[in-house]
Amino acid sequence: MRGPLRAQPRYAEPLPVTPGVRRLGWYALGLAIAGLVTCGGGALLGFGAREKWRKLQCRGNLDQIALLTIMYSGDHDGWLPPAGTWCDSVVIPYGDSTRWLRCPSARRAPCGYASNASLGGRNRGKIDRLESVPLEYDATGGWNAAGGPELFAPRHGGYGYIAFADGHVKQQRVKDLDTLIWNP
Ligand SMILES: [Zn+2]
Repeated sequence: MRGPLRAQPRYAEPLPVTPGVRRLGWYALGLAIAGLVTCGGGALLGFGAREKWRKLQCRGNLDQIALLTIMYSGDHDGWLPPAGTWCDSVVIPYGDSTRWLRCPSARRAPCGYASNASLGGRNRGKIDRLESVPLEYDATGGWNAAGGPELFAPRHGGYGYIAFADGHVKQQRVKDLDTLIWNP
């Protein structure tokens, strides 16, 4: 009699409750881990994709702004717009929209770009090495902002975009700015 009586609490009590609760616990833990992995991974992927989209958008804006500036110059015997009114003289009349001026990483600014002030009122046909001369670029300063490298804003993961006077757009870091021809 002593044997079965000792054995009874060991097997009879835990069996009806514990396995079910334990299974439920593991199931819940599994769900929680799966949820964390899914949400965490999704958030990371979402962030990367958003950054990539912003870069593409900014690059596209500068492509368009440079194209419009070159069109303006073509219609004005090679003369570039006055630096202090470039948004009003070029992007609004030629682009027919302000949307090209909004850098997606500086959405509150009505204009996220500046023009190279040293090119204001210059004749594009008389400038050498257009491919090294910044025309418009990611910058602080707002509407009609014009200046030099001091306005450059590397707001895309340490890089900013620059449209050059030949129309190509390239991402640049602050340390690259010295290699460019700001005052041709
Ligand atoms: Zn930008």
